[in-house]
Amino acid sequence: MWDASKCNLCGDCLVNCRYASYDRDRAIAEIKLLMEGKDAEILSKCTTCIACSDYCPTGADPSNLIFKMQEKIGTCPIVVVGKPLREELVRALEGREDPRQLIPGTPDKPALSLDAFRFDYFPEGTFDSQLFKGMTIVRGGQYVSLVGYVHMGGESFVEKYGQRVLDKLARLGKDIVYIHNEGFVLAHVEAKEYGFKVPFKYMHLFEYLRNYLRAHKKNITKLGKKIAYQANCATRLIHEYDAFLDEVFELVGVERPNRKYERLNAVCCTAPLIYVNRELAVDIQKKNFEDAIACGADAIITSCPFCNRVLGRPSLQFNLPNIFITDLCRIALGEKPWPEGSR
Ligand code: SF4
Ligand code: SF4
Repeated sequence: MWDASKCNLCGDCLVNCRYASYDRDRAIAEIKLLMEGKDAEILSKCTTCIACSDYCPTGADPSNLIFKMQEKIGTCPIVVVGKPLREELVRALEGREDPRQLIPGTPDKPALSLDAFRFDYFPEGTFDSQLFKGMTIVRGGQYVSLVGYVHMGGESFVEKYGQRVLDKLARLGKDIVYIHNEGFVLAHVEAKEYGFKVPFKYMHLFEYLRNYLRAHKKNITKLGKKIAYQANCATRLIHEYDAFLDEVFELVGVERPNRKYERLNAVCCTAPLIYVNRELAVDIQKKNFEDAIACGADAIITSCPFCNRVLGRPSLQFNLPNIFITDLCRIALGEKPWPEGSR
């Protein structure tokens, strides 16, 4: 959450933003305008990648200031394009659209929350996998993570509806495993910032997969591949969970070689951008895939259904498969082959 008291106006956040080209003076001027509650050019250039909160040396969380101001000013492309989606979300949260879908599991197993993602946003067979056997699987508009609505001009939605979503999940009476990073961020990060109660135990998908693979080591065939990882933007809010992912990669026998666009320097998957600036989105995708290929990657691994979808086109174009993280585990467990005809 934006904390003006931590900002020393150093400008690092916007000097380092790769979607604007500001020198330090201009970067500082932009931040000053935002702090005064005024419109600024960065609001229209911002792809909502959250990286500037990583670049900020003081923890002031400048991306949150930008997202608040995008919503307040209301004229930048992301906010304009996102209006129907925000309206749809409100209808869903009020129970007027996108009702709950639930696949019941066994009483001893936790529930897997898909947020509002439809089942077909995940690779075929995901929910028949041994990974999730016996788990209750739930999705629907009333379980939406809200955190991702910063990409559609809905920064305030977390504060307005966060407790409602958490209470809805609590009514399942189960521990929750979040398949989508942003649902986890609502429970683990935003809940503390807004003082929400989280009346259930919860776990990030990376930790769940790590635990599953550790317990089923004998069923794993090490893949012997190199992979590039496309991080979901909100993983920048939970760096400590990268260690679970590294362990997942180690357990399935894939190497994560150093490359230009990862960790602090990761690029946006372009999902928020593709509808408002297609040319820039395609350029970022190209740089991302060329960088992955240059580092010898056999695939790009995604952990967000939106990242996975938007990278489908460049994946075909560059003949580099994009594999959802659960599918990577399923391949190592012998449930699926490595994508045919690929590297
Ligand atoms: S969120 Fe990303 S695109 Fe927006 S200002 Fe920060 S670094 Fe730039
Ligand atoms: S938000 Fe952080 S990086 Fe940006 S000007 Fe303030 S202190 Fe510097």
